[in-house]
Amino acid sequence: MDEYIPVSGVVACHICPRRYYFERSEEREESPRYTVCKQVSAHLGELLEPEEIWREILCVLPDAPAETRELLDGCISACRETAWQRPVQTDLAVESDLLGIRGRVDKVFEDGTFAIARSSTAPRAGVYGTDRLRVACYVACLKETLGRAVAGGYVEYVADGACRFVEPQPRDRREMLRAIRAAKRVVAGEIPPRPLRAPCDGCPHLERCTAGPRRLSDLFR
Ligand code: SF4
Repeated sequence: MDEYIPVSGVVACHICPRRYYFERSEEREESPRYTVCKQVSAHLGELLEPEEIWREILCVLPDAPAETRELLDGCISACRETAWQRPVQTDLAVESDLLGIRGRVDKVFEDGTFAIARSSTAPRAGVYGTDRLRVACYVACLKETLGRAVAGGYVEYVADGACRFVEPQPRDRREMLRAIRAAKRVVAGEIPPRPLRAPCDGCPHLERCTAGPRRLSDLFR
């Protein structure tokens, strides 16, 4: 296997492979919102001490904007309402040689299930389609990395104190395979066509994307 696709790349390709093409080589900065949610998530299942978590956030992100503290307090009060499992391992690197993907699972629990921490607000019920896809990818990776079957995983919507279990279905695995194929084509240098229902509103690449052919080979198609 030459190049493993990160799970984030698989999800990006599910949303728009063309956008993944434009962004693949860009360094992406972590958002302060994610830093807060990730740090709160690391303490779930134990007594949540706001000052301790705040010190850790400032260590990770020394220039955290002022509103970050407000977000932290909101996350903590939301998460205190929910019972959380404590993991046996955190930030576990996993990969699937069969699929050619890799990633990092936020938490693995004693019963073999796992959790990923998200900074988005929780949907009214269940989880977002992109999170189903993330869970499907991690189930496949964990199965190969740990050598045992994994039924599903939890999605922690930390900002809302919600934890939702997902058991991937055949439809999710098909979506996963489709997105992996698209990502592999991008990695091989193909410029994907614009998807018919691409989420172009607010896409920072709109101008470049609609500007027409850029490669010499494109001019002769
Ligand atoms: S403008 Fe639309 S089609 Fe183009 S990269 Fe962005 S989301 Fe994809």
